[in-house]
Amino acid sequence: MLMQQGILLTKSLGQNFLHDQNQVQRIADAAQLTSGDQVLEIGPGLGPLTRALLQQGAQVTAVEIDRRLHASLEEAFQGEKALTLIHADALKWLRQHPQDWSRWKLVSNLPYSVGSPIVVELALAPKGPSDMVVTLQQEVIERMMAAPGSKAYGVMSLLVQLSYQIGQRFRIPASCFFPEPDVESSCLALHRRSKPLLDEDQSRTFVQLVKLGFSQRRKVMWKLLKQRWSSEWLENARNQLGLDPMIRAQALDLDAFVALTRVLHASDNRS
Ligand code: SAM
Repeated sequence: MLMQQGILLTKSLGQNFLHDQNQVQRIADAAQLTSGDQVLEIGPGLGPLTRALLQQGAQVTAVEIDRRLHASLEEAFQGEKALTLIHADALKWLRQHPQDWSRWKLVSNLPYSVGSPIVVELALAPKGPSDMVVTLQQEVIERMMAAPGSKAYGVMSLLVQLSYQIGQRFRIPASCFFPEPDVESSCLALHRRSKPLLDEDQSRTFVQLVKLGFSQRRKVMWKLLKQRWSSEWLENARNQLGLDPMIRAQALDLDAFVALTRVLHASDNRS
């Protein structure tokens, strides 16, 4: 198909196309769609997943950066009223068009080059999608799912898990893609928490706290946080929450980061 259309693949755009129909179907099924659901698909490529989503009755908005693929999709899906095709860089497009995504599901075999920032952008959106079913390199999926103490646990785990609960995950062998990627891939379902753990303002403090806390993994977290909060407030928070003065960020779980955010956020408002 690619050759028929004279399309040369661009490695930097993460163009590894899923040709295994069973895996395409598994991804679409993981989204548990009901007819009329609004789905955002990023990087539709040649449209195998788009087709499966449409077959399940979804209203799909698909954002593709590659002009040739966008043109080929327009032709392939001509007259398909349930599909809106957008030719854009999805990350820029998301940032330029902030909106209420809470009634949407993201279902995508994401471009691996920009997959992480896209998931984080939507995960931190005040009204992010109700569900995200994303296929990405396994290493990134592991970071999203990771728990304290593991090597994969860090900024990505916390930024995603603040608003999303981890759902089903399955591996997709490299042989299911053309060309085969150098890395292993997995599909992961994320479900938005019904009740946010923090409000919008506190969430911004949470992001600062997590990024600073993990900025040097070997250092005691409190030393790193001194760049942003006074020693007095940090000591106060530590005592209030009964946290170890020698703790490193990777040992602290989501609940502890949330509790610490509340205390430090309150201190910002008082000082
Ligand atoms: N969904 C298709 C499939 O499963 O076969 C293609 C997936 S391929 C891994 C990633 C797709 O994302 C490619 O079509 C690529 O052109 C597109 N892409 C890459 N960077 C993008 C960006 N910043 N915004 C939108 N699409 C992008």
